[in-house]
Amino acid sequence: MISVEKAIQIVSNNSNPVTKSKGINLSSALGYVLFEDVVSLINMPPFRQSAMDGYALNLHNSKTYSIIGEVKAGDNYNPTLKTGEAVRIFTGAPVPDSANAVVMQEKTSLDNDTLFIESQVNLNDNIRPLGEQILDGQIALTEGTKLFSAGIAYLTSLGITKVKVYKKPSIAIVVTGNELAEAGENLQYGQIYESNAIMLSIALKQLGYDKVSIHKVEDNYDSTFQLLNVVINQHDVVLVSGGISVGDYDFVGKALNELDVEELFYKVNQKPGKPLFFGKKEEKIIFALPGNPAAALSCFYMYVLLAIEKIIGNNNFSLHKTKATSTSDFIKKGERAQFLKAIYHEGVVEILEGQNSSMLHTFALANAMVYLSETATSINKEDEVEVILLPI
Ligand code: AMP
Ligand code: MG
Repeated sequence: MISVEKAIQIVSNNSNPVTKSKGINLSSALGYVLFEDVVSLINMPPFRQSAMDGYALNLHNSKTYSIIGEVKAGDNYNPTLKTGEAVRIFTGAPVPDSANAVVMQEKTSLDNDTLFIESQVNLNDNIRPLGEQILDGQIALTEGTKLFSAGIAYLTSLGITKVKVYKKPSIAIVVTGNELAEAGENLQYGQIYESNAIMLSIALKQLGYDKVSIHKVEDNYDSTFQLLNVVINQHDVVLVSGGISVGDYDFVGKALNELDVEELFYKVNQKPGKPLFFGKKEEKIIFALPGNPAAALSCFYMYVLLAIEKIIGNNNFSLHKTKATSTSDFIKKGERAQFLKAIYHEGVVEILEGQNSSMLHTFALANAMVYLSETATSINKEDEVEVILLPI
């Protein structure tokens, strides 16, 4: 059995970007990572731009200017100002080449076409220089940048419509268990409703992974072997739920072994999620997650997400961590590291009641996990604890 830290390191070291890239429309690039540096083909702003509503001036020694015209945003107009002349100007409008400062309208007064300046004006005041944000030919965003709203908007503001990105992996979820019924059906004695498939697929979807297929198999060696064989061939990442413990009807480990999946680790000294398996077949990544739902979801956040973020080229991925003051006591039993569902808010964290790995209720309320290392002891109220923020 290995430690949490070692398991994270093994996942990180063995998850490499899918070397394939693809060109996509920027409008569809949410959650993708840039495969190459993106160079701007324009200056931004593309002209000297007024940062204020006011007056563009050709400066001189007096505080009095004569107004000779107006330039508003979008005008394709570049009037020539002599020394001591001004034009009315608005935010975003092109500043005439012959103007060398813009004064805010709040700092002026008017008498017909004569403008009086009521404050000190310095050269280049309130003018956004041409190319202030980026110059033509400069790198706008580098390879490895994950695209969200601002990044997509930034590249769009440079006139870019297509980008080259790392491919997102295709992911198969394989759910095992004879006891599992579909929500909506009547439960027979001995059955429970299956919930890991929807949990994992929605967690993936929320993080921008939508190439996900769901497969189900009963606790039977041959069927498990056959299904795993197919999904490992067809997908980049396989997430198995259940069937990886030591029970007589847990066939996933044996099937993966027979399929020549290289075991990189099996069992992590953690609670929940001890029977976690991580392996590889060529470049294919395989996780076998414990069937208990809360354990499966903890393992998803701690390990699966790290692997798939690295696969899409996001080398800098890690969940956000912080320290917080606990409002709860917690008695730690045993020497396993623990992930405790919790609610974090402004430096304070509440560890929730009901940490059992079979229970999803607390996860449904949690926005964080308190992490207790193997050597950590019990928590007392007011103790400072380590908090992992969930990406929800
Ligand atoms: P296993 O890891 O297969 O031994 O399953 C551990 C526990 O998780 C058992 O109580 C299962 O009934 C439950 N379980 C397994 N798979 C699922 C699932 N897909 N949805 C809900 N509970 C599950
Ligand atoms: Mg099972």
